[in-house]
Amino acid sequence: MKNVTIVKQDSSMKLISGFFSCYNIPMHILYNERQNAPHNESFSPSAGKPKLFIDRIKAKYPVTIHSDWQPLERSDFYLAHDPAYVDTILDGQKANGFGNTSPALAQTLYYTNASFYHASSYALQHQCITLSPSSGFHHASYSSCFGYCTFNGLIITAIKLYQEYSLKKIGIIDFDAHYGNGTDNIIEHLGLNYIHHQGIKQLLDQHQKFQLSTLEKLLLQFKDCDYLLYQAGADPHIDDPLGGYLSTEELRIRDEKVFTFSQEHHIPLTWNLAGGYQQPIEKVLDLHENTVKEWLRAESNQKGNKKRQQ
Ligand SMILES: [Zn+2]
Repeated sequence: MKNVTIVKQDSSMKLISGFFSCYNIPMHILYNERQNAPHNESFSPSAGKPKLFIDRIKAKYPVTIHSDWQPLERSDFYLAHDPAYVDTILDGQKANGFGNTSPALAQTLYYTNASFYHASSYALQHQCITLSPSSGFHHASYSSCFGYCTFNGLIITAIKLYQEYSLKKIGIIDFDAHYGNGTDNIIEHLGLNYIHHQGIKQLLDQHQKFQLSTLEKLLLQFKDCDYLLYQAGADPHIDDPLGGYLSTEELRIRDEKVFTFSQEHHIPLTWNLAGGYQQPIEKVLDLHENTVKEWLRAESNQKGNKKRQQ
């Protein structure tokens, strides 16, 4: 295990669901129903996706869902964003990343971002892989929103972890189909030199083809990180109307390699759903479920390896 000093314990986390807990496979999800926006009418299904996804997987996989955690405070958003920008969004004076000023949607932002943060805290404290069923982070810049992203939960989480734990380097592996321009904008604006950020474009050759050797080399850049944030977007899929790079099998290999890398290098990791725009949404949920299968396979392999070593 990495030599990470844990200085904060969140005793408020309470186990509320453990359908397959008898399997004793540690698949922990930090999810609260308040992450979902009612009446989402945007082109992006992201605001209602967490519930659909959790409802689909909770009875099929050995997951443990933690829901009893606190939303972020307004001051947490100030860590990564211009406070004036944060206030205008949360007070409904400016359109959010979904292009509306809905107070109900603004309320969900406290929870989507907190889901990622608490999932990350849990992963660090327990040195494991966790899931935050969240989306809508990486296009949010220091003082503007774009493309269904309002606040950058990746950066907010990285800053909070850096401040609360003795971390030296945090990796953001962003394999959503799209460039995390907001993430780079905030890293540059705030001079966050402890964050290493790479995206899916680095995985493709000049013909937009996936290269396994490139993926393996890219992951090695993260080997000295204390912690990894992984955007496992479904929109790189070849059939996605806003993506279109990778086959279903290539996405599976992507997930397998990231989870295996995290385990082999003993670096805790939190993944999230990020983008996916195929219709009907079941096609997107199928791809996210494939990521859960790779996560389960990685956990099962690791458990088997540990047993053999005993
Ligand atoms: Zn995307």
